Amino acid sequence: MKHRIVVLGAGYTGAIAAGRLARRLHPGDTEITVVNADSDFVERVRMHQLATGQDLKRRRLSDIFAGTGVRLRLARVTAVDVDRRTVSLVDADGAEEIGYDTLVYALGSAAADHGVPGVAEHAYDIAGKQSALRLRERLKGLAVGGTVLVVGGGLTGLEAATEIAEARPDLDVAIAARGGLGDWLDGKAQRHLRGVFDRLGITVHEHTDVARVEATGAVTADGRVIPAQVTVWTTGFAVHPIAAATTLSVAGTGQIVVDDTMRSVSHPDVYAVGDAGLAEGPGGKPLRMSCASGTPMAWQAADAIAARLTGRKIPRAPLRYFNQCISLGRRDGIIQFVTADDRAKPSLLKGKLAARYKEVVCKGAAWGVAHPMLMLPTRRRRLAVTRTESSTATV
Ligand SMILES: Cc1cc2nc3c(=O)[nH]c(=O)nc-3n(C[C@H](O)[C@H](O)[C@H](O)COP(=O)(O)OP(=O)(O)OC[C@H]3O[C@@H](n4cnc5c(N)ncnc54)[C@H](O)[C@@H]3O)c2cc1C
Repeated sequence: MKHRIVVLGAGYTGAIAAGRLARRLHPGDTEITVVNADSDFVERVRMHQLATGQDLKRRRLSDIFAGTGVRLRLARVTAVDVDRRTVSLVDADGAEEIGYDTLVYALGSAAADHGVPGVAEHAYDIAGKQSALRLRERLKGLAVGGTVLVVGGGLTGLEAATEIAEARPDLDVAIAARGGLGDWLDGKAQRHLRGVFDRLGITVHEHTDVARVEATGAVTADGRVIPAQVTVWTTGFAVHPIAAATTLSVAGTGQIVVDDTMRSVSHPDVYAVGDAGLAEGPGGKPLRMSCASGTPMAWQAADAIAARLTGRKIPRAPLRYFNQCISLGRRDGIIQFVTADDRAKPSLLKGKLAARYKEVVCKGAAWGVAHPMLMLPTRRRRLAVTRTESSTATV
């Protein structure tokens, strides 16, 4: 019987892991199945562009995996039983259970509301395709002078506020940030950021905690009201509750705790990559939810699985940061170079050059997903261990 590898999720990290596994393992010994709810690969890093009316290139997963040997199953994952090694799926034809020998969990994340009242009812987000499309419709319906408040001063908030203000100069856009605007960036980057926010006419509410969202705006922790017809909530990502409902070891965030090969610390036949996995990065800090760290996590998981199954030494992918790429609309940006553990260094690119750099990075990431069989030499090795040995190996 073939060794069954099931990859849950075909976003950046699941798709990359599946493609890499297909290049490493002999199809005579292994069967790789990818399960994804959407029929397309969704470039999540462009959701602020989708929300502001831009049309993104369509990338069908069936085209991406054609000829790779990877089987694609379009279905929603509803549960995982890591003790019985099964995954429950549902699609238009009904419910089904599939079994695995090795599981790669890569279901990503959605917007986190942090339990703030009114977010679920009144706020919009750009964490996924459906929510970005909802915001797109709402923004289209706003008349000249309409008010938009972006809550969250992290990377997603900065990108959302500038993208909306650039695409819709007729709207009155504001941002509420818990700290100072871009205060983790180098001083020169912060000055550039302020310049761009000024140029785009974005009102900045710094050191502002939003305690409640209402249909007509947000109420801050100190009782101020920021009126807004549309509130966009960008205060971080939260993982889907599926992993936390299993016997897997998960962190308080619900992310699956993994070792340096992206293998679950509690279940050796389960790997977790991308937003769904909690791995330690340089300096012992948890890797943040991003493509920047998710991509090497996917490489590492695929290489570790292939190495363990084929009885080879596990190669190590560098899990470190190089830069933070921030788009500020389509014509401006900041590339903040960072230390291995993600702290700003005194070097950056800004303006048009940074916007172009970011575009190349986004295109490169999507190209890597869309061409799973290119870039790496193909070495489809035979398995060296039995199905039982592979799931209990401790190396
Ligand atoms: C607007 C925005 C801008 C961003 N910009 C950057 C950036 O500049 N740089 C950066 O490094 N990161 C950025 N990120 C973060 C980055 O997009 C995520 O960290 C990354 O997508 C995580 O990859 P992933 O594979 O873990 O999850 P995803 O890419 O979200 O993929 C998860 C996949 O699982 C599928 N799925 C989910 N639930 C189910 C289910 N129950 N059943 C079946 N399928 C399911 C989804 O359809 C999806 O295909 C940005 C995010 C957003 C929202």
